[in-house]
Amino acid sequence: MKYYILFGPPGAGKGTQATPMARRYNLRHISTGALLRAEIAAGTPLGKEAARLIDKGALVPDEVVEGMIESAFSAEKEAAGFILDGFPRTVSQARDLDAMLARRGESVTAVVSLIIPDAVVKERIAGRAAIEGRADDAAPEIIENRIRTYHEKTEPLIAYYKEAGLYHEVAAEGTIEEVGARVNGLVDRF
Ligand code: AMP
Repeated sequence: MKYYILFGPPGAGKGTQATPMARRYNLRHISTGALLRAEIAAGTPLGKEAARLIDKGALVPDEVVEGMIESAFSAEKEAAGFILDGFPRTVSQARDLDAMLARRGESVTAVVSLIIPDAVVKERIAGRAAIEGRADDAAPEIIENRIRTYHEKTEPLIAYYKEAGLYHEVAAEGTIEEVGARVNGLVDRF
């Protein structure tokens, strides 16, 4: 199985790129953010707890997202592999992912990192708020908090995956198709 991590700040276009990538390479797209939003929409206890953190732009606990990832891995029978979008988001999640995959005799295939300046991120998130109606996209202070959380907690993963020889960058500015072509060029190598 292939395990691609689509990496980047909020608003980099991970979800947008994951859809055509999943179709092209027969991969299952797992977005922890989308899974959490589904729990919130269904009004589950987990969703209610998660909403309190998501609405502040904070991260939900590792066990919550790791449980979701593990069941998504176990449920999959047909795809050639996975695109992880929004996971891992901390070094401890990355370590847990490595352990989870090792138990299955698998490992991360490649990290595709979408590179985009903070200023563009803010514009994109503001634009998305109008289209998708996400509560965590709406307020400037929540967006700031998510970007800060990204720099503090998620960016250290770059060094983690560089060390592992798995880290690859793609310029994420341009049209969806332009960025998609760069992503495909990278995925074709692994
Ligand atoms: P996203 O759709 O990836 O931007 O995720 C939306 C929100 O869900 C994030 O701001 C976090 O609050 C939460 N979330 C998603 N993935 C994770 C994760 N791997 N670890 C912790 N929190 C997450």
